[in-house]
Amino acid sequence: MDYTLIFILACIFIPLERLYPLNPDQPILRRDWKNDLFYMLFNGFVVRAGFTAVAGVAMLAYGSVAGPNPFPVLAALPLWFQVICVVIVADIGYYIAHRICHTVPFLWQFHSVHHSIEDMDWLATHRVHPVDQVFSTLVSLLPVYFLGFSAQALVIAHLLYHVHALLLHSNIKVNFGPLKWILASPEYHHWHHANEKDAYDRNFAAQLSIIDRVAGTMFLPQDRKPVAYGLETPIPRLYHQHMIHPFNVLAKRLAQRISERTPAMFARVEDNLGKLAMLLIFGYLAVEKIFAIQFIFQHSDQIPQAGLILVSQVVSALFVLLVVYFTMVRLPPKDSADGMMPRVIALLGTYIMMALVFLPPEPIGAELRIVATAIILIGTALSIACLMQLGKSFSIMASSRELRTEGAYAIVRHPLYAAELLMIVGILLSHGSVLAFGLGALWVTLQIRRAHYEEGILRATFPEYAEYARRVPMLVPGLNLRWLEAPVEQKRVSGSEPV
Ligand SMILES: [Zn+2]
Repeated sequence: MDYTLIFILACIFIPLERLYPLNPDQPILRRDWKNDLFYMLFNGFVVRAGFTAVAGVAMLAYGSVAGPNPFPVLAALPLWFQVICVVIVADIGYYIAHRICHTVPFLWQFHSVHHSIEDMDWLATHRVHPVDQVFSTLVSLLPVYFLGFSAQALVIAHLLYHVHALLLHSNIKVNFGPLKWILASPEYHHWHHANEKDAYDRNFAAQLSIIDRVAGTMFLPQDRKPVAYGLETPIPRLYHQHMIHPFNVLAKRLAQRISERTPAMFARVEDNLGKLAMLLIFGYLAVEKIFAIQFIFQHSDQIPQAGLILVSQVVSALFVLLVVYFTMVRLPPKDSADGMMPRVIALLGTYIMMALVFLPPEPIGAELRIVATAIILIGTALSIACLMQLGKSFSIMASSRELRTEGAYAIVRHPLYAAELLMIVGILLSHGSVLAFGLGALWVTLQIRRAHYEEGILRATFPEYAEYARRVPMLVPGLNLRWLEAPVEQKRVSGSEPV
């Protein structure tokens, strides 16, 4: 801003503020006056640069679409009438922009810099963040520009706006009389800056208080004055701090939002990927089983104990189909165990069991094969019973979906693992190789660790689990394997709020 102009404004406003003060106790060199002087000297350049860049693009775009001056009638009106029209249209635009700034949290961060004013005077008018200034000027002036009013009318109206803004913030008591209900007065705008609940989000207009009257946002009590101005939560005081403060707040909020949402998003993606892998693998297994059943059925006369093997295959096909079905309909996880190990162990446990199923059978005696097949059959049938009870809570990973404590779950914790153990014993008997026994031993070790992780996450999600674990033994009925007890504290990756 021009130094001469600053001198002239100071010569007008400082004496008036001394002669007719709204708040007589406020000194001329009040708090932060140097900061607001810096705003007055420097901020205009930043605002003009921002405004030129944004408004220039908007005007060029409009010009190329609408052509030069689409409403010549308005530009031909008498100048004084055009000025009145511009003030009305621009102030309606300003009212809208200003109200948006108070409503949209993103814009409020920038507008709050202007509301950090704690001593109202003409100098404080200039404390506006460039983003706030560019936004409100654009919304108020672009409609006026697009309507094609003459440049002269725009310049006069804009000058009026500036002088009016200085008056509104100034510490000058001016009696507008009944006009205060139509024109914005210092008293009216000071209420906009008041740090009082009643006055929050009131008196948005810059020049025509009647807009607030019509919109029902006017607050102009006649029996009192604002006690304090400024923000409920103060912000830093200096110019450079004001410039970066809104960006800091917004960056912090964004980072917080991302960190809040990431674990939930991660849990959802992981659950869906796991579901897809399960459906592909167990879907393939189901098709294999169905072909195997068809083969046994067609060649039953050439296969010894074909009847028993057929029943065993039908039961295991049923098990695989149930795994596919419950994977499809399973509930979203309430919570999942934290870290890589629970995931790696769960996957290894599942796929080692499948590897055992696919190992080539060793030549064993007929009696042993019957015993082995019968054990596999019983193990698979029990697994089906457990799976039916587990239902939509079934999952490979250590996740908590819904707590099951009835039926098989009232006899042992992890009955599915106990039934699978029986199945594995049958498989080991029928394969009998060193590799099979080695894999079997590894599987048991992994399953115990897996049960630990599951217990941890179930205890963390369901408070009643501790009592259930005290009451019901783990894996083997009647045998309380205390050394298998899982640690109570288990870190969690929060998928959603625990119940
Ligand atoms: Zn405001």
